[in-house]
Amino acid sequence: MEKKELICINCPMGCPLTVETEGNEVLSVTGNTCPRGESYARKEVTNPTRIVTTTVRVREGREKMVSVKTETDIPKGKIFECVKQLKDVELMAPVHIGDVILENAAGTGVNVVATKAVL
Ligand code: SF4
Repeated sequence: MEKKELICINCPMGCPLTVETEGNEVLSVTGNTCPRGESYARKEVTNPTRIVTTTVRVREGREKMVSVKTETDIPKGKIFECVKQLKDVELMAPVHIGDVILENAAGTGVNVVATKAVL
């Protein structure tokens, strides 16, 4: 049996979680104040994912960069590839909130969208 210590990142309380695992199976989660902590811990030890937020270049706009994010979580192991793909992206203004900046980021099936407008 293996024990992992995590901090729940779902709300500012930041509950310290202890997860007991056997191979890929989660045996128990303790330390969580609410059920979201347990789901977070189970996912984090079996299939950790994150929302990716970054910025990409914009040409001929009032600003030179626009903030973007993945529409949903992607596997942690795909973050580097996703950010690398976004480094090569250069948009033409105007950019609107919700515009798809990159489809199927790093082969995850998840799109990257603009979170800000640049006119
Ligand atoms: S377990 Fe619940 S209360 Fe604790 S940090 Fe996570 S979401 Fe917040």
